[in-house]
Amino acid sequence: MADTARADLVIAGGTVIDPAQKLHEARDVVIADGKITELTSPGEAPSASRDLDARGLLVTPGLIDLHTHVYEHVGAVNIDASSLAARSGTTTMVDAGSAGAAIFDGFRHYVAARARCRLLALLNISVIGAVASPMAGYGRFVDPTATAETVDANRDLIVGVKVLGSRIQVGEDNTDQPVWHAHAAARAAGVPLMLHIGDPPPTLTQSIPILDQGDLITHCYKGQLVGRLVDRDGNPAVVLQEARERGVLMDVGHGSGSYHWGVARQLCGHGYWPDTISTDVHAGSINGPAYDMPTTMSKLLHLGMPLDEVIRASTLRPAQAIGWDDRIGSLEVGRTADVAVLAQEGGSFPLTDTFQQTETATRRLVARHTIVGGEVISAS
Ligand SMILES: [Zn+2]
Repeated sequence: MADTARADLVIAGGTVIDPAQKLHEARDVVIADGKITELTSPGEAPSASRDLDARGLLVTPGLIDLHTHVYEHVGAVNIDASSLAARSGTTTMVDAGSAGAAIFDGFRHYVAARARCRLLALLNISVIGAVASPMAGYGRFVDPTATAETVDANRDLIVGVKVLGSRIQVGEDNTDQPVWHAHAAARAAGVPLMLHIGDPPPTLTQSIPILDQGDLITHCYKGQLVGRLVDRDGNPAVVLQEARERGVLMDVGHGSGSYHWGVARQLCGHGYWPDTISTDVHAGSINGPAYDMPTTMSKLLHLGMPLDEVIRASTLRPAQAIGWDDRIGSLEVGRTADVAVLAQEGGSFPLTDTFQQTETATRRLVARHTIVGGEVISAS
């Protein structure tokens, strides 16, 4: 510690968990000019303008939620990202297809530019995004050329393509065509494709085989898929086994209809833990059953996913999935200071899935502070 060292903020006394640096130990996190400048031994940090007491708490990279709906004031389901970020330790939210090519500029100027957290987007293959639900006739708005061009013109914000691959969107007559078009757009733009799975058409054996290494299946523990994602004996379906083998990623996408304790437990029992933990937070899930990242992470902890792996799936892995792991998802010195301070509480906590089934967990994660670019945005 140099006498001349200066810091704006020190997060002191916590246990740092940063899977990107294989770190799980007591450290003080030193922040100056919006960046991480040091991870010191406890008590060794230079004096700072502000100290956050993190004794007894976990200090992790800012949480990254790969599946959110935050195009506020457009459509009925989009929510305000900033207030959620402040209370959930989430420093980056990726909007999953609320915007398509025709309405993306509004997302940039009216939403992303004003948010207190980092907002990125997966661009919907439908040019009008997901402005209404249900979206029967989705296929009429699919435009792979406009999608690829819009991704290319907005690479600072758009990190992939989203397609809704279920009957409520594609209707009875369009089958797997939107998924093929979205795949073509994603490959033309060189970005991952996130596939929302649901009731057919398309069937999972039509849609999932289209995905390549690095693409994502969201809603991977969806209950309606009993007999499809898991077979009648409780084993992962062949189509899912094959996808996993070729490097397709599994994303939780909890939402209001896509997390089933039974399906999650069966798949996790076979080692099919989520690659990325995400909320699918929107107006219908933010006040339960999804709530926020810490609650969704607590559900995976309850299923036996080790704490460090839960943190990895909420920080480093989502950053890698969108090719941003050189910028976010780690507390490495020199990085932008996006940090979550979390409490791991013991007790008796009811956790409800999207089928009104409640299990009682003995521990849960709760956010205490959210720091974005070195600025504390949480209320406390
Ligand atoms: Zn969603």
